Amino acid sequence: MEILKLDQENIWHPYTQHKTAMPPIAIARGEGALLWDTDGKEYIDAIASWWVNPFGHSNKVLADAIYAQLTSLEHVLFGGFTHKPAVELSEMLLKILPENQKKLFFSDNGSTAVEVAIKVSLQYFFNKGEKRTTIIAFEDAFHGDTFAAMAASGISFYTLAFQGMFIDVVRIPVPIKGQEQASYDALEKVISGHNCAGFIFEPLVLGAAGMVMYEPEALDNLIQICRRNNVLTIADEVMTGFGKTGRNFAVDYLTTQPDMICVSKALTGGTIPMAITTFTNEIFDAFYSEDINKALFHGHTFTANPTGCAASIASIKLLQTEQMQANLVRINQQHLKFADKIKNHNRVEVVRVRGVILAIEIKTGATESYYSDFRNRLYAFFIENGIILRPVGNIVYILPPYIISDDQLAKIYEMIVLALEKIK
Ligand SMILES: *Cc1c(COP(=O)(O)O)cnc(C)c1O
Repeated sequence: MEILKLDQENIWHPYTQHKTAMPPIAIARGEGALLWDTDGKEYIDAIASWWVNPFGHSNKVLADAIYAQLTSLEHVLFGGFTHKPAVELSEMLLKILPENQKKLFFSDNGSTAVEVAIKVSLQYFFNKGEKRTTIIAFEDAFHGDTFAAMAASGISFYTLAFQGMFIDVVRIPVPIKGQEQASYDALEKVISGHNCAGFIFEPLVLGAAGMVMYEPEALDNLIQICRRNNVLTIADEVMTGFGKTGRNFAVDYLTTQPDMICVSKALTGGTIPMAITTFTNEIFDAFYSEDINKALFHGHTFTANPTGCAASIASIKLLQTEQMQANLVRINQQHLKFADKIKNHNRVEVVRVRGVILAIEIKTGATESYYSDFRNRLYAFFIENGIILRPVGNIVYILPPYIISDDQLAKIYEMIVLALEKIK
């Protein structure tokens, strides 16, 4: 087919070894939780297109908001200029973010949101005349693919070629059940042995690691250790933000709030690339000075793009509707029911649920690497059966758009059970 032929000739895809990969599927159209390829085959988008799409594909409300903005002010530079969509979005976000968050910095994807937070934590101490160069991160963390974000990420094959070229990052174990104390102890030890500027973490759910989950109390304890030692804390909510964990943000489960928060992915409802890093006044004040050298010299061309802001405003309004909040509860209840049903299956190692996220670790007898043959067989089985799921090694997870129907969910569950029977 023409599209695939030209794709193969012209295009380099993300995370793809072109020599061995299956050809991509050409998608022609999307509506709600469904996608159709150019042959008319239907797929349920069970992972919300890499976790970005909460309200369904080709959402009319978002499309109208974007069109209206495009036809009044599509873009304007943000250095020395401002506009109503950015300001209105800032008001809306600050209302739903933890109370200590007071300032917003715009960029255009999850990696840049993280990059900004890491640079700010290093420069915060520089501006105060202190040299601190170490960032603390979880083992198996994922924070993006730009250099500082990649340095903070702990999944080896994303970073293998670049070892030795990174900023200084020290890792601690994730405080999963039973490992909490080891994680606290490791954090105390890292802080006492290094000049630590900041601790970056995915709050409650580590997405790319395979939806690894831990409890709010553990994160509260880690943040409190950092606070006692004057180490800044960065919640990377790029995946977890905007309802995924059942609340607006995963940090809403905490009693101690982080100093910085990164959001992107679902921010614009999956329509336009955009990201925001948010800060306390205390951090902003460390850059506020007569001295130009204390300013944050960071920016991106499409910073605070008005069309992205308009999409975000419409998206946050959708998230706050009673209907959408009810969907979050409904999906969580369906997941819990399914988890209960399947947890004793002889091929299930463990099932995890938080909000709209469900993850199943499949027993395979071996540790499956991220892109193992077993993983590829699972992926192909789901695609063949019209379900888009991207297993991580032996972990199958669901993170659907919030408008997915009970019937569509039931079909995904049914296919997972069938995969457990069939794919060895
Ligand atoms: C996806 C993701 C990122 C990177 O976002 P990009 O938009 O792909 O650069 C960073 N952190 C987390 C937790 C993510 O899930």
